Amino acid sequence: MGFVGHAFVDWDDTIAENIRYFREVEDAASDLIARHTGFDRAEVARRGAELDVEVARRMGLVKESLATSWLACCREFADRAGKSVDPELERELRRLCAIPYETKQELLPGAADTLRWLHDAGFEVTIWTAGEEPIQRRKIRESGLSPWIHRQAVVLEKTPERLREYMGGRDPQRCFVVGNSRHSDIRPALAVGVTAYHLDVHTWAYDHLEVDEADPNYVRLERIDELPALLARRFPVAV
Ligand SMILES: [Mg+2]
Repeated sequence: MGFVGHAFVDWDDTIAENIRYFREVEDAASDLIARHTGFDRAEVARRGAELDVEVARRMGLVKESLATSWLACCREFADRAGKSVDPELERELRRLCAIPYETKQELLPGAADTLRWLHDAGFEVTIWTAGEEPIQRRKIRESGLSPWIHRQAVVLEKTPERLREYMGGRDPQRCFVVGNSRHSDIRPALAVGVTAYHLDVHTWAYDHLEVDEADPNYVRLERIDELPALLARRFPVAV
């Protein structure tokens, strides 16, 4: 072993672009439903986003949750319009909702270099990610970053309990989480008392949550490549 520390690094929207693919689908799905039912596109989009969070909280971050939300949204507006739902429209919504889970993701600026730095500096690199195991593993494999990754921890929902489980016997003083989500990354890290490096970039309503930014373990990053300098001051790094 002999790692200088243990990095728990989020994947989606920390290392690889993700929410952009969901936003594109939400736009297209709202358009389709608005056109079919005659309701205002913005109203459809708002309700769809609401259902998306409700369903994700209920089902966990599984692929089926996106289609479930938008099909429910479609039925709701069709009911209100007194129309039946065209099976062709349902098929098209299903096709759209699969896209974010099947797309080869673009890496975010600085992500590849930072992951490589963590590895070469002597950290144990765990990708700590929420979603379905085969999907998350495929995204990681496709990124080409596997050589810099020691472990992949895939869970349906990130909680303090699951984080503690993956920390195992590791010294909490030498563990830290890097991620973009207050809900999934920052809150669990602060709850178990490890440093949380918060890449405060995008927002999905699922991720919205107040966290105690006055907690000494809370550190905000503008960019992921600020990490090496911060960690080099704290750990006896090899590079
Ligand atoms: Mg994320």
